[in-house]
Amino acid sequence: MKMSKMFMPTLREVPADAEITSHQLMLRAGMIRKMASGVYNQLPMGIRVFNKIQDIIREELNEKGCQEILCSALIPAELWKESGRWDVMGAEMMRLKDRNDRDFCLGPTHEEVFTDLIKQEITSYKQLPLNLYQIQVKYRDERRPRFGVMRTRSFTMKDAYSFDTDEAGLDKSYQDMFDAYTNIFARCGLDNSPVQADTGAIGGSVSAEFMVKSEVGEDEIVFCSGCDYAANMEKAVAVVAEPSTEEMKELKEVHTPGVHTIEELENFFKLSADKFAKTLVYVADGKTVVVVVRGDREVNETKVGNAVGGVVEFELANEEVVKAVTNAEIGFAGPIGIKADYVLIDNEVANARNLIIGANKTEYHIENANYGRDFEGTVGDFRNVTEQDKCTKCGSHFEIARGVEVGHIFKLGTKYSEAMGCNFIDKDGKSKPVVMGCYGIGVERTAAAIIEQHHDENGITWPLAIAPYHVVVVPVNIKKEEHMEVAEKIYNDLQAMGVEVLLDDRDERAGVKFKDSELIGIPMRITVGKDIVDGKVEFKLRKSEEKEVISLDEIKSRVE
Ligand code: ATP
Ligand code: MG
Ligand code: MG
Ligand code: MG
Repeated sequence: MKMSKMFMPTLREVPADAEITSHQLMLRAGMIRKMASGVYNQLPMGIRVFNKIQDIIREELNEKGCQEILCSALIPAELWKESGRWDVMGAEMMRLKDRNDRDFCLGPTHEEVFTDLIKQEITSYKQLPLNLYQIQVKYRDERRPRFGVMRTRSFTMKDAYSFDTDEAGLDKSYQDMFDAYTNIFARCGLDNSPVQADTGAIGGSVSAEFMVKSEVGEDEIVFCSGCDYAANMEKAVAVVAEPSTEEMKELKEVHTPGVHTIEELENFFKLSADKFAKTLVYVADGKTVVVVVRGDREVNETKVGNAVGGVVEFELANEEVVKAVTNAEIGFAGPIGIKADYVLIDNEVANARNLIIGANKTEYHIENANYGRDFEGTVGDFRNVTEQDKCTKCGSHFEIARGVEVGHIFKLGTKYSEAMGCNFIDKDGKSKPVVMGCYGIGVERTAAAIIEQHHDENGITWPLAIAPYHVVVVPVNIKKEEHMEVAEKIYNDLQAMGVEVLLDDRDERAGVKFKDSELIGIPMRITVGKDIVDGKVEFKLRKSEEKEVISLDEIKSRVE
């Protein structure tokens, strides 16, 4: 491409409203332009980068036997009503009506669409397994779009869905995608880690997020210093540090059980959340029972009753409930998650004695309530894991870092197939729900994460595999025929070799051209200037300070 013809509006100044490096550099390098809050247009330099990432994704997924399709982004509400998510998705879903007043949405994700497609087309186990994917624009009316394309309201996602006949099949599909993701992000030059993740609104049992460690990340990740345990803070479990007797004394002095104002309680909770690891129960106003649950024993997903940290409010509470909770002694372990309480109340487990799961006093337990089945919750719902806490696997301390979620994989099981009647006839002649997984990668966010890890004070330093072009040829002065002639010859030769090459034939000073090529991060630069009288050019790598004068014959071997 000749740069004189290129639509590449670069900026010298740092745009005022761009807070993070990747956002600033994408704007400055002329990759993107903002149209509305969280809505961006993609320009040639941006498109090339996003396409490179998409190509890598395609190669790695095709390698695993996945097949590309493309579904509509415009989705009728009926599908979402079938799965039950029309009401669950809330304000993040972009909804609209057609001329006949029928409800539609712009897809924020496509579990329903893919499940429905398979339901219509698949009848027998012989047609499974399948793994289908698409690369398509998703719409999410994010509460807080920010950081350029890191969090937008319309973004390109690769979303894949696997369909298996049983759990063992799903395990393999999931592992295949895990491996593909590992390859994809490595090829993108990203230093990243898979971490255990919460399944959130998508649902399902097992899930991993691919996290790029970065100060600008909106997620907090917990890494064990002694083993391979790594989890999103939302999901992290830990053996919580014990409070000292001193700290317990302080807590008791500040607050005594009884009737308290909400304000007093709030102060108390702040204090206790920072410092303590014991369970205490307070009656706020005779109506609201507030429980601080800070377990001091080992916690993991299966040990309900040894919950950790935080505040639980029971809104309902008749007198009996209040009594039951206040009767629970210090040291009882309360419900493990805030969600749990709502579930319990919704289920009208009204019997006061049954309100508490895992109380250490007999007759104060909810009988037969199982974590995962009857309610959800993690340590993170109450109190974040800290560096003082210990790994439940190996007992080592944690490191806590910020991360950008670039990919996310889930085992969905039969959640959607059961809700939507997506069944197949198995070998034994029985009709069974298809066992599903789903797998997402944000294309533009991945590009932003790459810039966060690959830049210097002069601009982007793209890894070769992602760079919009591999080489830029810079004639120092386009008015000098000998510069232009040689530059054009190099440009044509490289192009014939299949190298993606730019010719900076703009009538600008060399300094301006160098600045632009550094800003947009082209990995190799060939400058045609005064040395051409000796048949030589200057060769420079973007990532190195060194400039080498090489002969024209050497170019080919350097670039290959
Ligand atoms: P986040 O926690 O950042 O809101 P998410 O968990 O809601 O992301 P998923 O539903 O798991 O996102 O979607 C898969 C991938 O799509 C994410 O891992 C991310 O790379 C990308 N993605 C999600 N939301 C956005 C967004 N608003 N803008 C850009 N990319 C996004
Ligand atoms: Mg989200
Ligand atoms: Mg997330
Ligand atoms: Mg996610």
